[in-house]
Amino acid sequence: MPKSTNPATGQTFEDIAGHDDDFVQRALENADRAYAEWRLTSFDERAVILRRVADILEAGQDKYGRLATLEMGKRFEEAKAEVKKCASVCRYYADHAEEFLADKSHDSDAEKTLVSYQPIGLVLAVMPWNFPFWQLFRFAAPNLMAGNVGILKHASNVPQCAMAIEQIFTEAGLPQGCFQTLLIGSDKIEAMIDDERVKAVTLTGSEPAGAAVASQAARQIKKAVLELGGSDAFIVMPSADIDAAIATGIKARLQNNGQSCIAAKRFIVHEDVYDRVLSGFKEKFEAMSLGDPMDGDNDLGPLATKSIRDELADQVDQSVKDGATLVTGGKVPERDGWFYPPTILADIPKDAPAYMEEFFGPVALFFKVKDIDEAIEIANATTFGLSSAAFTKDGGEQKRFIRDLVAGGTFINRMTASDPRVPFGGVKHSGYGRELSAEGIHEFVNIKTVAVD
Ligand code: NDP
Repeated sequence: MPKSTNPATGQTFEDIAGHDDDFVQRALENADRAYAEWRLTSFDERAVILRRVADILEAGQDKYGRLATLEMGKRFEEAKAEVKKCASVCRYYADHAEEFLADKSHDSDAEKTLVSYQPIGLVLAVMPWNFPFWQLFRFAAPNLMAGNVGILKHASNVPQCAMAIEQIFTEAGLPQGCFQTLLIGSDKIEAMIDDERVKAVTLTGSEPAGAAVASQAARQIKKAVLELGGSDAFIVMPSADIDAAIATGIKARLQNNGQSCIAAKRFIVHEDVYDRVLSGFKEKFEAMSLGDPMDGDNDLGPLATKSIRDELADQVDQSVKDGATLVTGGKVPERDGWFYPPTILADIPKDAPAYMEEFFGPVALFFKVKDIDEAIEIANATTFGLSSAAFTKDGGEQKRFIRDLVAGGTFINRMTASDPRVPFGGVKHSGYGRELSAEGIHEFVNIKTVAVD
């Protein structure tokens, strides 16, 4: 059942009753009814509501940011920035949805041929706790603007964020039933996907959750978009601005207390600059203050749940047993809450968890390489393919990385970051489909061909 537990103390501060099967059925009926009207509204009408949502988010950034910090432990400053980014994605689609979904003329042997983008109905969103507002709004903004309606099943540890999100839409004047939150366990998802009122599903989270939801959707011939984990490479070559690479790499690894799918996780560094980059990381990691994420003086808060923290500690311990070098960190602090120190592993053998698995917390994995071929080989030696970053001033190397890194993104001399204006998503086990930009709004629409004589 959903409950709010402060990861900084380990104390549960709110036990919330979940929704029963009758409530779920009513929500599905409400959504179905709401869609019949919502699909007929104009882009302008939808945009008015989305802009109001943006205003509410901006005005309430302290309130909503605090909720996120209390329920999942991200630093308050980061939580407020997340809420503001949600406002920006609402405004972005309010401004651009009509242009993205405008009819497109085509040549054919008919007198007039066009492609029309039509809504499909109710989309179920299964969302994770790590960006409890952003993950949802980046789905909801394009889909509501496209004329779809949504139901959110949020992660069980962020129920108050989940309820606040529904409240924001209600306050903005979105008609009842167009967006609803259900406080239900993941065991209820299969029956919802089977329900003919649910037309498609989107999931952000772990690989097992993605595989389960995608196979349930496949059985019903329903579309799924999956945004799963990542083990992004961050490559540093000798020509790079090394200080910038170190500063950016640390930020890219430790954002959101290290719990981001697009965090830089594997640092693949050319041997000529390896010692300098590693010692730069070590020095900064050891100077970090770990503590209450509401306190702006702390650099790093706790991990979101005890199981996430324990799993990360096990991955580090196992990697060290398998022969990896523990450069710094690696010891669970003796204090309340689910803290884990900034940690570095190097000299990682191929059979250690650190070579292959995603490390969802503040652990940087270091690899020394002799040239660009080895850098690309190690970068691609993962089942994931979400994004990648490479620091180099050499134009030839930049082209190689862009061509040969197998990932949904390659960022040169900067860290991976999502932006409403550009598509976001992965390849391989990082999932499929795209969110954001024009590509994101085209995922859950009927791309209808119309020919008229
Ligand atoms: P999960 O994937 O388990 O949870 C994400 C969402 O999926 C939650 O709403 C969860 O519900 C739901 N869910 C879980 N299993 C199923 C299922 N079989 N069918 C339907 N829905 C399901 O993530 P965790 O919180 O357990 O985190 C574990 C790992 O997942 C992390 O260590 C990280 O590797 C990865 N992860 C990746 C994220 C990303 O941004 N790509 C975000 C979060 C996690 P409930 O909470 O009720 O179980």
